Amino acid sequence: SIIVTGATGHLGRLVVDHLIARGVAPTSIVAAGRDKDRLAKVAETGVATAVIDYTDPATLDAAFAGADTLVLVSSSEIGQRAAQHANAVEAAQRAGIARVVYTSAPGATTSALILAPEHKATEEIITASGLTYTILRNNWYNENYSAALAQAKQTGAYLASTGSGKVSSASRNDFAEAIAAVLTTPGHDDVVYELAGDTSWDGDHFAAAATAALGVPVAHQSVSSEEHGAILASVGLDAGLVGFLVALDANIRDGLLDAPTSVLSDLIGRPTTPLADTLREEAAHLA
Ligand code: NDP
Repeated sequence: SIIVTGATGHLGRLVVDHLIARGVAPTSIVAAGRDKDRLAKVAETGVATAVIDYTDPATLDAAFAGADTLVLVSSSEIGQRAAQHANAVEAAQRAGIARVVYTSAPGATTSALILAPEHKATEEIITASGLTYTILRNNWYNENYSAALAQAKQTGAYLASTGSGKVSSASRNDFAEAIAAVLTTPGHDDVVYELAGDTSWDGDHFAAAATAALGVPVAHQSVSSEEHGAILASVGLDAGLVGFLVALDANIRDGLLDAPTSVLSDLIGRPTTPLADTLREEAAHLA
């Protein structure tokens, strides 16, 4: 069977749906996550479920028993992830799992991206594990900008310190479908794929796409890192989060997420979802 971790989250849930859509029997899928209620919702698709916590190896041993494939959707607990992912890979080895698919970050082993080190550590554990691996280095989700869109609707501004830096994002659904594609087509053993949108966009483009999606004018308010940090602190964000967000924008300004490839669209057999399409969909759900 195929274990999908993070199945109670946005990406993992879409992975489960895409596996089923591609003909994998629900009974051979195990959806895993911490939250029982959300697992019960996933179980409505007919898949098995397992409560796991990456910090509790016994839960991983119980869930992974008898599986042959692990889809390790990276944890959302930034700072804890290298240790959590190590627990998952070690449990996979103990369970005799043959193959792991992992969601990593762009250029994980070489990039200065603030998020890269935990992914680099995880990739090293995976490639040293002896498991057959497929590492999917996902660029940004279009959906990372949901809050920015909601804010733009209220303020008429898209505030960023990304300068003219570009992002090669695609939709979460695109990245989820790629995982299902990797698991249902041959030829993805022991490879690392840099997955990204077909095109890149910058802050000006975001403002134009948000304007079109919302039907109200949105301006790109381009600020320095210092100004950005001061504005975020002034609305009550704690210093750690401010530092993180400003660093991410600086990473974008430095071009670390400007890496369009056709690998994702080739895997899913269609163009990736443009930012404008995701913003239009999300705008429809904003009050
Ligand atoms: P979500 O926050 O929706 O899902 C995160 C999942 O991780 C949930 O299913 C959650 O389980 C699970 N999880 C967190 N901590 C633990 C733990 N200790 N033990 C077991 N499971 C745990 O994120 P997305 O689905 O949107 O994204 C998936 C992953 O992709 C993220 O976790 C993150 O690593 C990465 N990411 C990538 C982005 C990108 O732009 N490329 C942007 C944002 C995230 P539960 O809900 O049951 O607690």
